[in-house]
Amino acid sequence: MLNAFLSLPLSSNRSQQDLCLESTLRSLSLHDCQIEYHQLGWEVTQTLKANPLLPGVILMKQGQFTGMISRRRFLEYMSRPYGLELFSKRPIECLYRSAETETLILNGDTLIVAAARHSLQRAAELLYEPIVVEVAPQVYRLLDVHELLIAQSQIHELATELLTQLYTHLEAANQQLLRLATSDGLTGVANRHRFDSYLDSCWHQMQASNSALSLILCDVDFFKKYNDTYGHQAGDDTLRQVAGAIQQAVQRPEDLVARYGGEEFAVILPHTSLEGALQVAERIRLTVKALKIAHVCSEVSECITLSLGVATIFPSSNFLPAMLIAAADEKLYQAKQTGRDRSQGHLLRIPRDRSSVFAPSATS
Ligand code: GH3
Ligand code: MG
Ligand code: MG
Repeated sequence: MLNAFLSLPLSSNRSQQDLCLESTLRSLSLHDCQIEYHQLGWEVTQTLKANPLLPGVILMKQGQFTGMISRRRFLEYMSRPYGLELFSKRPIECLYRSAETETLILNGDTLIVAAARHSLQRAAELLYEPIVVEVAPQVYRLLDVHELLIAQSQIHELATELLTQLYTHLEAANQQLLRLATSDGLTGVANRHRFDSYLDSCWHQMQASNSALSLILCDVDFFKKYNDTYGHQAGDDTLRQVAGAIQQAVQRPEDLVARYGGEEFAVILPHTSLEGALQVAERIRLTVKALKIAHVCSEVSECITLSLGVATIFPSSNFLPAMLIAAADEKLYQAKQTGRDRSQGHLLRIPRDRSSVFAPSATS
């Protein structure tokens, strides 16, 4: 009888889900096929016949590892002229001596990916030789190289999937970061930094396409009094509601609502004439008023109102973005001076002499 203890692979039901990047050779189907050196050739033939998946046998001499002979090599030597006569009735040691090749021995804790690399670095004629895995001191198992390469490709697929997931998470985190970096913490609309860069980029785009660029500055009326009456917390809530109403009143995707500072908001309207911008300003004013946020100390209304300054320009090298802001600010000041709860605007024209850039103003 054979001294060898033969068994099914250790984990024949392994599925792809069981593998991960850190999986080691222990998680693969390893064949337990240690046989003693003095076993006869025909006995090994019987063993290989009885276990068609066995990639070879491990030879032991008095409990010590001696070598490995693969199924391919064994069958090749047996089928040579006089092979059967020579090796069948002799200890397997004889065949092994003739067929001996370099054997790749790896520890059971070797990562599958590293094992696959070692395996593929072997000489071409040895690529299909099974790998000996030492699972414990002097305890050896055999690993079919196909099994290893299939596992490696599954891990590769898994790594690709993980990378894709990681990329998606990174992308979402980046978007979140970008939102945080460009939005105002209190109201959620764009912050001043975003306002400046967007105005700059719109300026260049409108200049290139010779289009009108409009800006609305909105300021909450008597907001200091509101804070004094209702408290700073209520003031913050109101600013959030006002920002939401402005955003709601602005319709085109390329329009940008930003918190310009304190209780002031700015709206950038690319490709928008003064007439159009004044319409938007009025819509903003009425939308905020429709919130009906009580303001008993306001001198112009019973509820929260806005004053708005509008300016429009055809950007050119004769102007600077700061001039558009200054013009809108000037109109906002006039809206305040003439009674609040209203919007005023004007179109900036190319100056004949640089001292006067403002055209006669349009008012609503
Ligand atoms: P006007 O109609 O002339 O604009 O009067 P006003 O009181 O609104 O203007 P003023 O510039 O005197 O006061 C603005 C107030 O806005 C002062 C400040 O208490 C308030 N404010 C600015 N930022 C915030 C904020 O983030 N939260 C709150 N709650 N209040 C703010
Ligand atoms: Mg103000
Ligand atoms: Mg104000």
